[in-house]
Amino acid sequence: MTSANPPSPIDRQIEPLGFEKHDHASCVSDTLRTVEDHCARDGIRLTPVRRKVLEILLQDHRALGAYDILDRLRTEGFGSQPPVAYRALEFLVGHGFAHKIEKLNAFVACTHPGAGHSPAFMICRNCNTVAEAEAAPSRGALGDAARAAGFVIERAVVEAEGLCPACASHAAEQTPE
Ligand SMILES: [Zn+2]
Ligand SMILES: [Zn+2]
Ligand SMILES: [Zn+2]
Repeated sequence: MTSANPPSPIDRQIEPLGFEKHDHASCVSDTLRTVEDHCARDGIRLTPVRRKVLEILLQDHRALGAYDILDRLRTEGFGSQPPVAYRALEFLVGHGFAHKIEKLNAFVACTHPGAGHSPAFMICRNCNTVAEAEAAPSRGALGDAARAAGFVIERAVVEAEGLCPACASHAAEQTPE
């Protein structure tokens, strides 16, 4: 037993990311490295196009539709066949490296890939920035209601829509009280 190992990103406290100012360059490289390690450990093939799609999604914490991703793949020289983008997205979502935002029919990179989690999304209706937090669907009011009904929650989609701090303060400037 040694405590010399630095905590892995998976053990790190999960906090909403995306609205806060943060070191985004290392946010992108850390996440890519976490996913690479995860794939290497589990023998999952992270092909160049899968890695590129994840990189595109990580770019600015914004939800992107499949066609936006396809456009960016094309400009990066990865071809322009829709199935290529769809298969890569399916792979990323399937392994928990990205999530689908049902409300926007769009995708975001997971901010703490590899950890088993129920994400809750905060979606800015103005700029489409998405922050991810932990939902814990078995707790709270929904969990209480489910327990009372004898229902076991396996998956809950939490997508809150509103304004991110930047857009909210901008809106406040535009319409002073
Ligand atoms: Zn970031
Ligand atoms: Zn996630
Ligand atoms: Zn916003």
